[in-house]
Amino acid sequence: MNKQQMLTNAKRVIDDRRYAAEEQVAQTLESLRSDKSWTDNEYALRSAQIDLAMGNGDSKKLQKEIARLEDVQKKLLFDSGVAESALTPHYFCAKCHDVGYVNGKICSCLQEELRKQIIAQSNVIDPRFTFQNSAETDKHNKAVYKKAQELCVSGKGNMLLTGNVGCGKTYLLAACANLCADLGRSALFVTAYSLNRSFLEAHLSDLAGKDAILDALVDVDLLLIDDLGTENVYRNVTAEYLFSVLNERLSRQKQTFITTNLGIADIRERYDERIFSRLVDQNSTFVAMLTGKDKRLAK
Ligand SMILES: [Zn+2]
Repeated sequence: MNKQQMLTNAKRVIDDRRYAAEEQVAQTLESLRSDKSWTDNEYALRSAQIDLAMGNGDSKKLQKEIARLEDVQKKLLFDSGVAESALTPHYFCAKCHDVGYVNGKICSCLQEELRKQIIAQSNVIDPRFTFQNSAETDKHNKAVYKKAQELCVSGKGNMLLTGNVGCGKTYLLAACANLCADLGRSALFVTAYSLNRSFLEAHLSDLAGKDAILDALVDVDLLLIDDLGTENVYRNVTAEYLFSVLNERLSRQKQTFITTNLGIADIRERYDERIFSRLVDQNSTFVAMLTGKDKRLAK
């Protein structure tokens, strides 16, 4: 699903809230209108309001009459056990009244729905893995976190994170995905293993199937690949497709963040020169190593 579709879905959620709020008022009115004294009063009130607006008749008298009719309406409401507030729609969002936009700008409620849509599509392992919730204390690692956060905010530049098992690479990757979703950018979190499965599936599909699989990997604003180097190497598949995805994303200036347990020399050994140069390219990629003991064991 691309971002336009996700925005459309998010907008539908907001629209449904507005319809529901307005529908509730409409239903209340409908049941009130089954009473003739209500409809007569309502009609008289509306006529008086129109007359006042059009300047028909004595405005002082009309205002008085409107106030009287409003009092009657209140009494009728009270008698039928309906709260006055039931006649105004209860919008979920006070800022935009469930329209999704304020002065042509996207409202925070629509932004939040879009974030949910992005997260739902992103495979993000845990929404609680965020920069704010991070318990990282190591000075060097904190600097890496800060830089990663900056990359997410700017929307520019790739990242290659190395480090031993359990030093928090996956957490940082998930935090990046969650932050991007907050910022309204699409993200896709994959393990190298599942990515490799997708490559194999693409390889075995017809052209349309192949395009669908690869487009999803190339279109997303931020692709996050966890644990590169743990995947099997399928001949004519793993390296070829990885290169093509990385290269296409680079040329479209889409961000790719990768974690690996491999050292730089191991990466060079495992992947060919073309992939290596794209993974560690100094101009486009922030290469960093997270340090520290296995956090999972330390707990
Ligand atoms: Zn709103």
